[in-house]
Amino acid sequence: MSSTFMCPEAGSREVPCEFCARYKAEMPEYLVDGKCDRYCTGTQTEYLGPQVNLSGYNTSSILRMLDLPDEEYGSIPATEVPEVLRRVIRALNVTSKRAHTVEEAFEERGALGARMVSFGNTDEDTVRRLTSMQNLLVYAADNGFEVVWS
Ligand SMILES: [Zn+2]
Repeated sequence: MSSTFMCPEAGSREVPCEFCARYKAEMPEYLVDGKCDRYCTGTQTEYLGPQVNLSGYNTSSILRMLDLPDEEYGSIPATEVPEVLRRVIRALNVTSKRAHTVEEAFEERGALGARMVSFGNTDEDTVRRLTSMQNLLVYAADNGFEVVWS
């Protein structure tokens, strides 16, 4: 499961379906009535604002770091965006606020041979995610938009 943070008020527009174009170019034998599948309308909605996509685990980590409810979906009203932006800037500038997110990579084998691999998380990974959130929140603040995630 992953989450996308975005500003719905940024708007969207209809553009030609990218899958239809790819099927036409690369595998026309799979087209259904000229479209990528029988439910495709031939267009797709393109969101016009910035967005941040995170895994479920990283979403949870960022939400907790920013004192936001650790839920699958939620929103930051426009009036609260500046305060959340301040929390992001604090987390970017105070290493100890991010220290708990650093995890070593590991690989383990269980008793029955099951393999478990974790790629870990570096401080640079966390800073990159926080910087993306900062860019989104600055955009929201500049435009008076709310931020939602789901
Ligand atoms: Zn299509």
